[in-house]
Amino acid sequence: MISRTISNQDLVKGLAGSSMTNLDTHWPEILDVVRQKVAQQTFNTWFMPLQPVNTDKNVPSVDCPDRFFMDWFSEHHLNALNEAGSDYFGTETLFSLQVPEAKAISQAMTANSATAEPTVETGGTETPAARLDTGAAQQKANQPGILIKKTTPVTAPRTATMTNINPEYTFDNFVVGSGTDLVFAAATAVSNNPGGHFNPLFIHGGVGLGKTHLMHAIGNAIAKDDPDKRICYITAENFMNDLIASIRDRRTPEFKLKYRSMDVLLVDDVAFLTGKESTQEEFFHTFNALYDLKKQIVLTSDRSPKEITTLEERLRSRFEWGLITDVQPPNLETRMAILKRKVESNQIMISDDVITYIAENITDNIRRLEGALIRLLAFASLTGNEISLEMASEVLSSFFQGSSSGPVKIADVMKTVGSVHDVTVDQLKSKRRTQDLARARQIAMYLSREMTGASLNQIGRAFGNKDHSTVSYACQKIADLMKTDARFRGAVLDIQDRIRGRR
Ligand code: ADP
Ligand code: MG
Repeated sequence: MISRTISNQDLVKGLAGSSMTNLDTHWPEILDVVRQKVAQQTFNTWFMPLQPVNTDKNVPSVDCPDRFFMDWFSEHHLNALNEAGSDYFGTETLFSLQVPEAKAISQAMTANSATAEPTVETGGTETPAARLDTGAAQQKANQPGILIKKTTPVTAPRTATMTNINPEYTFDNFVVGSGTDLVFAAATAVSNNPGGHFNPLFIHGGVGLGKTHLMHAIGNAIAKDDPDKRICYITAENFMNDLIASIRDRRTPEFKLKYRSMDVLLVDDVAFLTGKESTQEEFFHTFNALYDLKKQIVLTSDRSPKEITTLEERLRSRFEWGLITDVQPPNLETRMAILKRKVESNQIMISDDVITYIAENITDNIRRLEGALIRLLAFASLTGNEISLEMASEVLSSFFQGSSSGPVKIADVMKTVGSVHDVTVDQLKSKRRTQDLARARQIAMYLSREMTGASLNQIGRAFGNKDHSTVSYACQKIADLMKTDARFRGAVLDIQDRIRGRR
């Protein structure tokens, strides 16, 4: 029996000394710990392909299938692995990642012969499914005491080439809301029938609303259905850089061939082509070649084709041949659903009031929504404190100031409640307690608590130095009344809408 509370040093000694205590023998159990921590999908995709390495160095080490995988894993999943290792061994365990030498060399060669611009090939000769098989085979072989001979994994040769596709952006983890139901339907239709009716698919809309996500999702879905497809994601800017590099290096024939031999070409941010005439010219020919062969083209932009100034007319008209669809900012429910999804998929505990607070303050950009969440998580893990509404308001208030809508201030709440109830802000701050005034004050305190994220103490101070228990009582009173009296509830929600400027 191997004790669970051995230290890294013991492990290292074991690794060096005996085949019974090498990393192989611990690996299945470490994986079991990981399994408790991450979603099944994440586990299958990112942990199953790892292979433990027996080494006499002072760090437990695992092989990744390729460089892209390693970079991605290091950024997104290494912590989970380290935590699992630490739980398992009972001492802080930091894994090192590596790509087996033979693979690294062959990848470097492919990268050199491919393009000047840094592209990442995911999949390559191995599909995720193939990786999964390798992982499963490895698991079977991972019996205690059995040393695994390192062989090249046996996988059927596959030609699926996905250039620059981010496997994390899928249809599954895209939350469909009122502003994105059409574009989502269009994107799934395209992925079900690439090169069919909707060619090109042109998606436009504001920043951070999911255009790039949907584009990658199309790529991922098509690759899943047909691993033989050649799929390339590129920004219009990198397309231009690649073109320039190919001219410089006298590789234009290769450049043309590369893009014209794609089955699916996903070009992000095409408004960048504005004013870049030779790039437009080259893109025009690429477009025609692919279109004639019924290859799928997907384009995104922050503007509709009509709004892209100085775009050559012939290119504009081609952009309009297929389907043009836009992404709209999500409503409050969708923003909350997106946050909840992120929280759940990362297995984090955050209460609904914090989620509502973030969703209410960031209205027009999902990237910022995620950014707020990440900030909060980082702060919580640094300080070791639980995430509360107070913490959220403290950490995020400056972050929200960069948002176009901005946070609600207590002063805004007082002003609006005052005007609805026909009392002045000074009266709200006073000690007078006529019945109407007291009720208006309680509503204002409740809404300050709901909408600004300020603490009870902060609210108390803003209302003429009232005690926090007075604020707490007011919030409870109004919440109770809203539960039992639908009319009253409607009236409070109306005020809330006014404060938000929706009425
Ligand atoms: P855009 O390309 O429109 O600027 P992105 O596609 O880069 O926006 O989206 C920004 C971030 O928000 C990404 O991390 C993306 O995964 C996330 N995101 C956007 N829309 C959604 C959605 N509807 N559901 C889940 N995540 C989303
Ligand atoms: Mg984008």
